[in-house]
Amino acid sequence: MNTDCLFCKIATGQIPSTLVYEDEICVAFDDINPQAPTHILLIPRDHISSLNDFEEHQGVIIGHLMLKAAYLARKNGFADDGYRVVINTNKDGGQTVFHLHIHLMGGREFTFPPG
Ligand code: 5GP
Ligand code: ZN
Repeated sequence: MNTDCLFCKIATGQIPSTLVYEDEICVAFDDINPQAPTHILLIPRDHISSLNDFEEHQGVIIGHLMLKAAYLARKNGFADDGYRVVINTNKDGGQTVFHLHIHLMGGREFTFPPG
């Protein structure tokens, strides 16, 4: 827990969010500024600032987040049509909140490459 971190506060319920899934490893909630009909953020409960800060022993966490992203895609009914999973990292990647998160977006068609 990082007391200055917005997403740590969401994970512990100090800041409200629309939770869509949680377990002992991760929390998933609706993005406040959705970029698709469904836009969910999945975060580890552990404070990890970015993908750059993942350590070898934490590898299981990223696997867990990906599994739950696919689970939520199925649950929301767009797994077969397709969806987008994104991890923005640092300035050039467009990261604005420095608690690692996976964007799960679905419910519309996406273009590639992103801007
Ligand atoms: P990033 O730009 O770091 O990859 O993504 C941060 C995401 O967090 C953005 O999509 C933004 O809309 C979302 N966000 C920022 N503040 C809040 C908040 O207080 N609550 C929720 N639910 N999402 C937030
Ligand atoms: Zn945090």
